[in-house]
Amino acid sequence: MKHWIALALLAAASSVEANVDYAIDLTVPEHHTGRVSIAFPETNAPYLDVKMPAWRTGRYQILNLANGVRDFTATDAQGRPLKWQKIDKSTWRVQLPRPSAVRIGYDLYANQLALRTRHIDDSHAYLDASAVFMFADQYRDDEISVSLKVPPAWKSVSGMDSTAANRFVADNWDILVDSPIETGIHESFKFDEGGRDYEVVIWGAGNYDAPQAVADLKKIVAQTDTIWSGYPFERYVFMIHSGDNIGGATEHRNSTVIQLPRNYFQPRDRYLGLLSTASHEFVHTWNVKHYRPAGLVPYNYETENYTDLLWVAEGSTSYFEDHLLLRAGLMTPEEYFATLANAIERNRHTPGTKVQSVAEASFDEWISASGDRARNASVNIYAEGSLVSWMLDLALLQQTGGKVSYRDVHQALYERFDADQRGYTSKDMLAILAELTGKSWQDWWARHVESPVGSVDFDTLLRPVGLKAIADGPTIAWAGWSGEAEEGGVRLTTVERGSPAWNAGFTPDDIIVSIDGKPVVGQPFDSLLSGRRPGATVKVGYSRRSESGEKTIVLGAVPKDGVKVIPVDTATAAQKALFQRWLLIPYPGE
Ligand SMILES: [Zn+2]
Repeated sequence: MKHWIALALLAAASSVEANVDYAIDLTVPEHHTGRVSIAFPETNAPYLDVKMPAWRTGRYQILNLANGVRDFTATDAQGRPLKWQKIDKSTWRVQLPRPSAVRIGYDLYANQLALRTRHIDDSHAYLDASAVFMFADQYRDDEISVSLKVPPAWKSVSGMDSTAANRFVADNWDILVDSPIETGIHESFKFDEGGRDYEVVIWGAGNYDAPQAVADLKKIVAQTDTIWSGYPFERYVFMIHSGDNIGGATEHRNSTVIQLPRNYFQPRDRYLGLLSTASHEFVHTWNVKHYRPAGLVPYNYETENYTDLLWVAEGSTSYFEDHLLLRAGLMTPEEYFATLANAIERNRHTPGTKVQSVAEASFDEWISASGDRARNASVNIYAEGSLVSWMLDLALLQQTGGKVSYRDVHQALYERFDADQRGYTSKDMLAILAELTGKSWQDWWARHVESPVGSVDFDTLLRPVGLKAIADGPTIAWAGWSGEAEEGGVRLTTVERGSPAWNAGFTPDDIIVSIDGKPVVGQPFDSLLSGRRPGATVKVGYSRRSESGEKTIVLGAVPKDGVKVIPVDTATAAQKALFQRWLLIPYPGE
């Protein structure tokens, strides 16, 4: 009995002390490579499986990140080589003939800037651990440290705690893998907001006004208490990459990386895009990092993680992003109404909304469609998820007389679900909806989440909050195609299903060479139909597989500038009140 207790204590003690030390040498960065070393603690297991993730969080796509690894080595603590073999594309099995600590080494090729996984060059390195630092299942919960050997002028920053220059620690690998490291030469800013520390680091030259951006980020982060009652972090880091051929952003535990082309920080519409993106990633700190669909808890880095709720993780985040800008005074109501008009246009010109539900798009995000199929036969979790969130928000407000909004649903998710423990399901969301409103939302869910949304009646949606959608600009001829001018004519890039061009039989990659017999070579795409009226019939000469042909299109009609969302002529007090409860800003003109 005593012996047992002694053994148990020993085991407990060793598991507390056990930790995994990661290091990366970045002193020859110009060839986009680094040398990684990992020290795993002593184990008496017969072998140790060391793995590189197949994907990284925030991008629901298999990336096979083991593809950057070469010159893998394994030794014991004394430096004696250990035998190893790969047992699948991402796993190295190291044989342990006797109890031993294990030292792993490998070269890493890091040249995936736009994927926001790993990038090393002579000015910086961006290291998302899922693409850099291997893990072993039995040590996933152990404390870790990371040390970087970098060129003299480089400084390192991460959401993780730092114990010395270029050194970080975390309670476990899951924190490391959700806390990317940016190291190199940067512009760096710090601010405090509401007693929390924020840091902004910018890599790369660009047409940005850094102090202005920092001042605006400070305003955004001050707005989240309109949705959630607390903060899941004490310190937060915005990492911004300004570069070539990049764009997009990724959320992490208490940090984000935002990428923008160098000249995309101005003018205002592009700058607003940056602020919306920053807001989106910040909202994710709650929605997907703190509370997360059960299919993603814990993250399984070896394979696809399935959930029918990515539309909440992404779409609801997109829905909330501009609300923070509105309340912070960074976006005008008119600019916000323009984003609603875009959503309306998108619904009208995304035939996939009649084909795929947001639940289905969520589950299948790992194999999401591209090219023409992306909108003709599919919806995406961002735009369609945002639309469904909008519809749910207005339905909640309307049915409860403004008492309950979609914000309350997210506050409840925040209070009840900590992704370090458990995730939430559709059933949990339905239970929250029922609890908040005293009625069942099963039917609503079946019609809007589990079935395709279809064509939305936006007048009915907008009227309760005192808004309406109207045609913007004169009616013009419409074919339903888009294209790009090239040497031989105009190459079609998309053809909307059900549009006049679709019905005539056109498909992407057809090259339009003439309209009514007149050559279009050298003409920009936008002028193809100039002078043609809606309802007119045009003969379109085209080339496909190098053979020419002619098809007849009966042109349709659309408003020149799409739709516009504006206040109704005379709003009632009830409409104004519901608008205020919806966006937490006064009704226009009040
Ligand atoms: Zn997102």
